[in-house]
Amino acid sequence: MTPRRVTRLSFTKLSLFEFCPTAYRYRYVERVPTPFVPRIVVGAIVHAVLHRLFERIRSRERVDKTVLDQMHADYWAQAPRLDRERFPDIWSGGQALLDGYWRANHQDLGRPMLLESRFRFRPDPEAGFSIEGVIDRVDETPSGAAVIDYKSGRRPERLPDRLRAQLHTYALGVEQVHQRRVERLDAYFLADNADISIAPDPDYSAALLDRYATTAERVVEGEFTATPGPHCDWCDFRDRCPYRATDA
Ligand code: SF4
Repeated sequence: MTPRRVTRLSFTKLSLFEFCPTAYRYRYVERVPTPFVPRIVVGAIVHAVLHRLFERIRSRERVDKTVLDQMHADYWAQAPRLDRERFPDIWSGGQALLDGYWRANHQDLGRPMLLESRFRFRPDPEAGFSIEGVIDRVDETPSGAAVIDYKSGRRPERLPDRLRAQLHTYALGVEQVHQRRVERLDAYFLADNADISIAPDPDYSAALLDRYATTAERVVEGEFTATPGPHCDWCDFRDRCPYRATDA
């Protein structure tokens, strides 16, 4: 018997498919490159530097602001395409986020249990799809694990569904792969050093798995019908897409 093909999904794939299946096709089937967005580069640099900082903390090595600044400088020195002279705004944007993070948290940086933790699981042995991802950080709390995801923007008034789905995906990953009960889900917004913390909702997780299953079925069927709308304005593929919504 031919083994059943498993569709590999992630939160990013689910989110893009729900944004517009045609955008998903461009990105994951045709592999059209996405444009360079400085804001995303700043976020990626800050994530990487915080990862290094917390690795050091986890190893019980000393950290202070000088160490953090040196880690930022080292990151730039080691990245072949990053040049402070060429991208001064990316440098200063990342440094400002790291300065703010240190000011707000240096007295209690916590003790992470997992960092940049990769996971992949199938919700059940019969599922035709798997879910994978990388979790920024998981801390141990007295009553279970706390999943933490860093965002480079400002804290919104309420947690958008997109972030709720992302955090619940990570909670499923921790529970399935690491066999740890997740007690808390935190989205930490670096631009104003404020977070939104929620408890995992089992009903939401069950509905989320249904969303993954529906997406997997549609991907396997090659069902990528465009869903144009106002969101076309911030689609990475709008310049090439014949279905994009226009004002006219
Ligand atoms: S431009 Fe609009 S219709 Fe086209 S892929 Fe993007 S979101 Fe979909």
